[in-house]
Amino acid sequence: MIDISNLHTGLFIGGGWRDAGETFTTLNPATGQPLAELAAAGSADVDAAVIAATSAYRGDWGALAPSRRGALLHRLADLVERDLEQLAALESMDMGRPVGMGAAMMIPNLVGTLRYYAGWADKINGELIANDGYLGGPVPTHAYTRRDPIGVVAAIVPWNAPLMILGWKLAPALACGNAVIVKPSEDASLSILRLAELVDEAGFPPGTVNVLTGAGKVAGEALALHPGIHKISFTGSTEVGRSIVRNSAVNFKRTALELGGKAPQVIFDDANLDAAIQGSAMGLFFNQGEVCAAGTRILAHRKVYEAVIEGLKAAAEAQIVGDPFDPATTMGPLVNERQRDRVVGYLRKGADEGADVVAGGNAPDGPGFFVNPTVLAGRNDMAVSREEIFGPVGVVIPFDSDDEAVELANDNQYGLSATIWTTDVSRAHGISARIDAGSIGVNGWSPLAPQLPWGGVKASGVGRELGYEGILSYTEPKTITVIL
Ligand code: NAD
Repeated sequence: MIDISNLHTGLFIGGGWRDAGETFTTLNPATGQPLAELAAAGSADVDAAVIAATSAYRGDWGALAPSRRGALLHRLADLVERDLEQLAALESMDMGRPVGMGAAMMIPNLVGTLRYYAGWADKINGELIANDGYLGGPVPTHAYTRRDPIGVVAAIVPWNAPLMILGWKLAPALACGNAVIVKPSEDASLSILRLAELVDEAGFPPGTVNVLTGAGKVAGEALALHPGIHKISFTGSTEVGRSIVRNSAVNFKRTALELGGKAPQVIFDDANLDAAIQGSAMGLFFNQGEVCAAGTRILAHRKVYEAVIEGLKAAAEAQIVGDPFDPATTMGPLVNERQRDRVVGYLRKGADEGADVVAGGNAPDGPGFFVNPTVLAGRNDMAVSREEIFGPVGVVIPFDSDDEAVELANDNQYGLSATIWTTDVSRAHGISARIDAGSIGVNGWSPLAPQLPWGGVKASGVGRELGYEGILSYTEPKTITVIL
């Protein structure tokens, strides 16, 4: 735990801090005790943030040379790196992940994303387009596209990796010259409030980045409905994603949706089994299983099925569940009581549907919102295999052939990511091509690297973040034709 008495707890609008009419309390998930009292933005605050963002976009921020935008992003990356330990600690206090995990992966990911897009800021080009001449006639034209910023972007983020996921939106949006309004999750706002302080320290023009803490149903919905916002980039649940699309139709906002997942991890009988089991266990228990790409359906070839079950049982039993600030801890609490109860509800459903408990299967007594790491042996048609649980729960399912593995992998509403474990390179490419998912990792988890596009198909979302796709998604192409 670190001292948070100096952290701003208001709304960051137009480069200044202000109170909202109301507040809400955020809890420490390891103890269930209150952690901080934060401003709860209402629709008047959303209006104020839109005015501030619009004036930055049309004013000082919009007028800044692209290389200066890049320099500011580099400066922000330096400040995040300076305060890396503090930012990791704030997230752990708020959402429960072991502090070393955030310091080793999520906060460095933010630094990397800021630096990657800082480099893009002065390399965003349109195209000169060859054509048949004016109306197809003999008069030639000079036709080209510009890639302009979209305008005011709202970034609505979840609680499981607040800064990392915000970085995937904020960095490309700023590199392209947009102004941004951030809506953190009500369950994990602290690290984003600290980031707002760093944005201020870095010297971004006022209004370039605004942060509105508060309820999704109030502040989030007001953002989706606001006619002054041009794009919503949302990461969260599929259900809320649907409501964002409906509400965004008011002014046909661009929407990018990174939603839920139920990723298959397919272990073939030719796989390096130790690596597959270790990797699959990481895919299950990393970040308490509160990961959209968590590999929660372990499809194991029948020849290795028993070995996989035994290996995952040992991996689950080796997890150390406890205080996120104890260096020995490998799994912290779930984010809140509702999430803990939801996961426990799925464990009950699994038992009712006939899944065998291989490890875990319950929640420990005592304070905090902990769930024991759980491995179930089951079928692909059970609720625990079909629905996103967002907790440390995996189901092992046997298969007999490559075709059956593909059929099982694709027999799910989600399509975010998948992992394939095999030593046969032809099988690796062949199966990768046949699985419906935005990202496939072969013999390891898909790395969440700034250079690599990330996003889902089916109910896992629309659009891609990161890489060059990120630049395309935060610009509007405009075609200009000069008749010569
Ligand atoms: P959530 O959908 O409940 O909330 C996400 C954000 O949306 C929060 O900031 C919340 O306040 C806001 N929100 C809630 N209701 C809203 C509304 N009506 N209008 C506008 N905004 C609203 O999701 P969560 O519980 O915070 O996060 C878990 C979910 O996020 C899981 O389904 C997970 O799979 C998904 N997720 C996806 C990815 C990805 O890259 N695909 C990454 C992380 C998490």
